Amino acid sequence: MPRRYYTCLVCGRKFPEGQGIILEKAGRIVHLHSKRCAYKFLRLVLERIDDGCAKPAIDEVIEEFERINRERRPVKVI
Ligand SMILES: [Zn+2]
Repeated sequence: MPRRYYTCLVCGRKFPEGQGIILEKAGRIVHLHSKRCAYKFLRLVLERIDDGCAKPAIDEVIEEFERINRERRPVKVI
């Protein structure tokens, strides 16, 4: 069966199915060939998104990672 190929939105490189990053959000599908291209894309999206829309999601993710880090911290035994 022939392998399906996608084109990276950021750099234009072609990559096979099973590799790269595919983002699906807000009815859009974006194909990105590497973490570097994904970071570039997401950074530009964050810069352009309205603060009122971004704030609740950012706060929720900050709380989630803070909780994970608190739970990960080793307990000091005296
Ligand atoms: Zn790329």
